[in-house]
Amino acid sequence: MAKGHLNDITNLLGLEGLRVIQVVKEEDFVVIKVQAKGERAFCPHCGSKHLYRHGHARPRRVLHAFICGKRVYLEIWGLQRWKCRSCGRTFTWRLEILRPRSRLTNMAEMWVLWLLKFMSFKEVAKLLHISYGKIKKVLMDFVRMADLPGSMIDDLEELHLGIDEHSFRHQDMVIVVTDVMAKRVLGILKDDRLSTLEEFLKKIPSQRVKEVCIDMKEGFRKLAQRLFPKANVVVDHFHIIADGNRRMDEARRIEQDVRNKRKVRIPKKIFLVGFERLSEGGKEKLDELLSQYPNLKDFYWAKEALRKLYSARDKKEALRQLELVIINLKASDDAEARRWANTLKRWREPILNYFDNNTTNAYTEGCNTKVKMLKRISFGLRNIEVYVRKMMLGFLPQKFFHTI
Ligand SMILES: [Zn+2]
Repeated sequence: MAKGHLNDITNLLGLEGLRVIQVVKEEDFVVIKVQAKGERAFCPHCGSKHLYRHGHARPRRVLHAFICGKRVYLEIWGLQRWKCRSCGRTFTWRLEILRPRSRLTNMAEMWVLWLLKFMSFKEVAKLLHISYGKIKKVLMDFVRMADLPGSMIDDLEELHLGIDEHSFRHQDMVIVVTDVMAKRVLGILKDDRLSTLEEFLKKIPSQRVKEVCIDMKEGFRKLAQRLFPKANVVVDHFHIIADGNRRMDEARRIEQDVRNKRKVRIPKKIFLVGFERLSEGGKEKLDELLSQYPNLKDFYWAKEALRKLYSARDKKEALRQLELVIINLKASDDAEARRWANTLKRWREPILNYFDNNTTNAYTEGCNTKVKMLKRISFGLRNIEVYVRKMMLGFLPQKFFHTI
């Protein structure tokens, strides 16, 4: 083989500083026997350069890559052992491609992580012939949640954060933080405690944050305002509409219980479908129901008005419409409607901030779907810390797996 080719292969396999002696092919794996070059050393304990040779380390076989469906091992020969004249301790010459005592090279660790992006722990363990514990350790070391926001946002001048919760195994909630403009997941937090969120958000440079998109949670809002005083808080428009529908339905249910003593059901769906989507017959039926149950009128009008609000041309027009909704609800005889008015009043600014950039949490919510999918292919994950890191792996761009 020409020397140039050999160099290419050496580079491709990341074997700089090693001399290939022999390649042995077995049925489902390959062993590359290499000789360590680079002899000069200093003592890792005291830094002294006064050393003498102390024999060679036994050849070590370590996993290095996974190529063409085969595991590729390195068998490292001729690793010099040294003894320090200053402190008297012995040590083995360290290779850059491998952490001391590790059975996996740095490149093999990248392969573990890359495969883990698409496969379950079980499948990766089987493919690479390594244990679950080893895979877990590689994952835990690599995806340090603490380092994440920094490396995910270093190229973004302005940040538009999206914060959203999703449920993990039906009960536990996990918070996802994204940049909704750059469409990037910045972090998946292990629980929904405000303190966990705060700890994470504190690592994000405050002056770069322009917007924070949240759902109508007072805790999220206060935290965002405290940590990012210059940013606009935007409440996700989907949540405003969903909240309107929820209140509408709650009013219907109460009316049904009070008026009919549960003997007659008031239809549900007709109140929740957008008015413009009702047929002529549907509109008549709706009119009928609203005159039969006048208490529902204020709720129905308000939830429809909120939906229309989002097609307003600009913030000013939206403000006028929102004021109208608030005034109408305030004038209602129903205490629940008046409470709704107060909520909207409190959230007026975040609702209207939507109109600056049309910022929504659609991307953040889309990530929930992906998280659920990733969860499905990683069946049997008990440990939330491991789960969260594996999820995060699925969102990391390729640049994080730089050595393969
Ligand atoms: Zn020493």
